[in-house]
Amino acid sequence: MTSAAPDTSQHCNPLLQHLEMPNFHAGLGDDFADPVAIQPLENPRLVDRSPEAAALLDLDEPDSQELVSLLNGDCLDARMQPLASVYAGHQFGSWVPQLGDGRAHLLGQVRGKNGQLWELQLKGSGQTPYSRFGDGRAVLRSSIREYLCSEAMAGLGIPTTRALALIDSDSPVQRERTERGAIVLRMAPSFIRFGHFELFASRHRMDMVDKLIDHILLHHRPELREADNPALALFEDVIERTARLMAQWQLQGFCHGVMNTDNMSILGLTIDYGPFGFLDTYNPAHICNHSDHGGRYSWSRQADIGWWNLACLGNSLLERISLKQAQESLEVYRDHYQAGFRSLMKAKLGLQDLPGVEDDSLIEDWLQLLYQQSADFSLSFRSLSEFDESAGHPLHKGGLKPSTALNNWLERYRQRLQKQAGTMADRHSAMQAVNPLYLLRNHLAQRAIDRAEQGDYSEVARLRKVLATPFTRHEGADDLAEPPPSNEQGIAVSCSS
Ligand code: AMP
Ligand code: MG
Repeated sequence: MTSAAPDTSQHCNPLLQHLEMPNFHAGLGDDFADPVAIQPLENPRLVDRSPEAAALLDLDEPDSQELVSLLNGDCLDARMQPLASVYAGHQFGSWVPQLGDGRAHLLGQVRGKNGQLWELQLKGSGQTPYSRFGDGRAVLRSSIREYLCSEAMAGLGIPTTRALALIDSDSPVQRERTERGAIVLRMAPSFIRFGHFELFASRHRMDMVDKLIDHILLHHRPELREADNPALALFEDVIERTARLMAQWQLQGFCHGVMNTDNMSILGLTIDYGPFGFLDTYNPAHICNHSDHGGRYSWSRQADIGWWNLACLGNSLLERISLKQAQESLEVYRDHYQAGFRSLMKAKLGLQDLPGVEDDSLIEDWLQLLYQQSADFSLSFRSLSEFDESAGHPLHKGGLKPSTALNNWLERYRQRLQKQAGTMADRHSAMQAVNPLYLLRNHLAQRAIDRAEQGDYSEVARLRKVLATPFTRHEGADDLAEPPPSNEQGIAVSCSS
């Protein structure tokens, strides 16, 4: 432990006083996490807050000053006891025996809207016993990206940690250049990762592995508690959720960038936004993390890596699940992934399930077309959602050019659509409900960051608002629905954050 818990006389923040704040971590004991004081930033100021995330905590109009003093750790809720947890993980395939919350403080858990539990966590709030060589800080640039992407993923309907608010400061933080420190307040039902299980299993602390399982089942998966083998029930649950998450990531063009096992959520949430990216032009080999030289975490490999990471989790449960059973459970991963992929892909293409109709080759050929023409991934789907099968319609938005291959494909698509019920208008609206018009493309995030670094936070707020409902057109936001102009293509994002 590097420092003591803060003086509770400083705990005065009324922001969350309307919420129950149960001590859910009590059952995990002292070996799970250490009390660590928050190190406030200089001259903190609010960049933005998410009304959607606030609503989850029954907060209508959170007071800006209360938010800032909570995020900066200047004034916490009297019931909060900041903690940093310890975990381990496989990073780029190599075992790292100890990691942990190196720049994050868990503030506590609240019971929000409809009784849903939310853990509240600060990121960028100072050093902890798990900082290793890090400074415990997060820069404004990466914090804006994490804040916006958390809320954008929620807008896309993809399971994710959330972000309530973000503060900027005058504290200098050294990266490739001197930047400013920032703090995001993240929310998740639980921040427990595969790496927590791996850490305790590697230390032969199966008592702690059992506590983690009990904790997750009790608070987050009560329906699995009666299972004959709770460890197996949890394993199978996370296998299915991860498989479906990978399908959603891929089909909404998301590339995580650092799929290490310490960045994999036991609840199947997207967690730890770093050098992520959304596809612009479709290239399955796309690597969004500049530091990922081998392409281990490229867009198309995410499904396989999800499996590999689950196998690591399975290893840490081998005293509770037989090897044979773990292998059998892992085999089902592919079925869940394919089912998730197929059903979302068909929804994106507006194809209803029809008995005896197999759409795999239509799907494959569509992707092949996008690849050959270097078309924009999401906008091509969006264009198709406006395709008039009687009049024909140029699919210009995604950059698909008229060609024999496109015409042939559209003819097959038209014939396929004729086999199913429903009007064209129905199909269009169903497709538009799953094909986003707006994504947090790198060039858009970068524009918001450039302005925020000059002290103008308005673009962060504008992006957050549009990305909260990315399927509906927003007045005055046409610039956010465009692929990057040539001078803003291929912005490299590194792990430095
Ligand atoms: P990541 O791959 O970004 O999730 O980070 C891997 C590990 O490094 C985690 O345990 C983080 O808490 C830790 N870490 C990353 N950046 C910092 C930093 N600036 N200071 C302290 N710890 C850090
Ligand atoms: Mg991480």
